[in-house]
Amino acid sequence: HDGERMSDEQVKVFDDVLRRRVLTRLRTENELRRGIEQGELRVVYQPVVELVGGTVTAVEALVRWQHPERGVIGPMDFLPLAEQSGLITSLTSHVLEEALAQSRQWADEGIDLTVAVNVSSRSLLDMTFPDEVKALIERHGVERDRLQLELTERSLIGDLARARDVIGRLHELGVRLSVDDFGTGYSSLSRLVMLPLDELKIDRSFVMDIDSDGPGAAIVRSTIDLGHHLGLEVVAEGVETETTLAELRELGCDAVQGYHLLRPLPADEVGVWLRARAGGRLRA
Ligand code: C2E
Ligand code: CA
Ligand code: CA
Repeated sequence: HDGERMSDEQVKVFDDVLRRRVLTRLRTENELRRGIEQGELRVVYQPVVELVGGTVTAVEALVRWQHPERGVIGPMDFLPLAEQSGLITSLTSHVLEEALAQSRQWADEGIDLTVAVNVSSRSLLDMTFPDEVKALIERHGVERDRLQLELTERSLIGDLARARDVIGRLHELGVRLSVDDFGTGYSSLSRLVMLPLDELKIDRSFVMDIDSDGPGAAIVRSTIDLGHHLGLEVVAEGVETETTLAELRELGCDAVQGYHLLRPLPADEVGVWLRARAGGRLRA
């Protein structure tokens, strides 16, 4: 196999590339750890609007990293690192804390809605997570069903026995549970129906297919039926056009979320939008 072996020069290049990659990762990890401690995480909110009546039922909390030099970094660019390094635990706590404080503030201003927080698969394997959620809800004085936790379908594929325990305890607490990115995880239905869920959120990759009548359109249609048969609310995310909205209404989808309604924005800007809307009760 002599011909397959790397030359000394190749080994050196490989070494350098690897070393640089590890160093970059460590640096970013340290920066993220410091960033979380120093309050560089920001939370933006995106409304979820009922298709009949146009009531804003919820807002989803979405994390951003306000990096001192690199500017705003989206979750896709640092969540994988947060997951691998274990920093996701403190990130989740931070977002929950922020979102519940905001929910309390909105409630005090007469704005009554559910705030949805995304949780990673790690939280679902952590038996102390439900206690943490309970303590936070009580500290902020938020009604239990005014918090929704979004679990991705993918996070339900691993150790389902343990996840089921955690999910069961969260359900007993009275928080709402939603399965996010529905349709992307290939999880078996027989496993899903065993969980005490409140909502299915159809992944935007399928929702976007509605306009072009691509293959996702059929998945949207069947997910709405399926969700309703299971007694769940069905939300479509990634709604970018009026055509999609009209079609979803036609299909009997319960609520929508997407740029066509509002982009994720800081809490004060969402507050302005919510108040303006409550006056006119615009249709979605
Ligand atoms: P997600 O939970 O599916 O959140 C929806 C994503 O779609 C958000 O991306 C949102 O900005 C984007 N979006 C909303 N409407 C539209 C639309 O009409 N068109 C398109 N193309 N996109 C739309 P974002 O904020 O970049 O978040 C990406 C993902 O990162 C989220 O997907 C979620 O899985 C994860 N994430 C965000 N915040 C958190 C967090 O606090 N904790 C955890 N564990 N994950 C989070
Ligand atoms: Ca989500
Ligand atoms: Ca999603």
